[in-house]
Amino acid sequence: MATSLTAQISGGTQPSAPSFSGLRRICPKLDAAVSFSHQSFLNRVNSSIRLVSSSSHRSPRGVVAMAGSGKFFVGGNWKCNGTKDSIAKLVSDLNSATLEADVDVVVSPPFVYIDQVKSSLTDRIEISGQNSWVGKGGAFTAWNSSKTSAASGSFLGILKGDMSSEKRMRSFIGKKAAYALSEGLGVIACIGEKLEEREAGKTFDVCFEQMKAFADAVPSWDNVVVAYEPVWAIGTGKVASPQQAQEVHVAVRDWLKKNVSEEVASKTRIIYGGSVNGGNCAELAKQEDIDGFLVGGASLKGPEFATIVNSVTSKKVAA
Ligand code: PEP
Repeated sequence: MATSLTAQISGGTQPSAPSFSGLRRICPKLDAAVSFSHQSFLNRVNSSIRLVSSSSHRSPRGVVAMAGSGKFFVGGNWKCNGTKDSIAKLVSDLNSATLEADVDVVVSPPFVYIDQVKSSLTDRIEISGQNSWVGKGGAFTAWNSSKTSAASGSFLGILKGDMSSEKRMRSFIGKKAAYALSEGLGVIACIGEKLEEREAGKTFDVCFEQMKAFADAVPSWDNVVVAYEPVWAIGTGKVASPQQAQEVHVAVRDWLKKNVSEEVASKTRIIYGGSVNGGNCAELAKQEDIDGFLVGGASLKGPEFATIVNSVTSKKVAA
């Protein structure tokens, strides 16, 4: 089914940007760690997994396999799920879970439960809205604005939509990202191809067009996490193989390097979403350009979500 994407680049040659030294890609910005501007993120972000040259120093924990310099990031998208009782149980499971320290963790409850979650969830885990209107609000039935998200204490918006159909729609989603950033929120910017686009060998083109829509709109990438979510993998139980995900992630990082800057390419987290679960997360996490996950279904089970958060350990080897 899926054409090898590696073969789509440069007429079948390997992506040109990455060069490898041992287990990790060489990157000049060793000290840069990405963080959201939100203060709590700033306070915690510097413990992140860092890029080290295989020939030079190693962190005491012997971290490997991370091409970017940003901290591992796991988001749980609860979508339109839950009742007051089931949310209370999920929050209680999350509160009692043991989570690795060097991971940014965010959950996105349905808007109606944000206050409940905010008042009961451990502050180890950040809270995000799901999607948002493009501006400050008004007569837009069923939408929430970034402003109301910010006011309720959530700070991240997962921006999804049919990015791949028309330029107008892509530009609309780009504008939503820009507005959310202007309100001091972070953004999880979702990109990804449909099955027919993958089968037609258009995965890179589609993802790059979507990246361009965000790049054209956002003034800075500091508070943006990119989520590669192939549409065919979302909620279907069909997860991308680690190699399929890695080749898109490395291409997206390369796109950032060429079209934005080397620094942004290094600092921006590129996370994978699409049927991630407790069983497949470790193999995916080992891929060096996978900086974390956006999790739907499996984020509704506290212990399984904790397993996914803790898959950061598969990026580490004994010192
Ligand atoms: C998602 O909603 O972002 C998602 C990836 O869902 P799932 O993990 O259920 O495929």
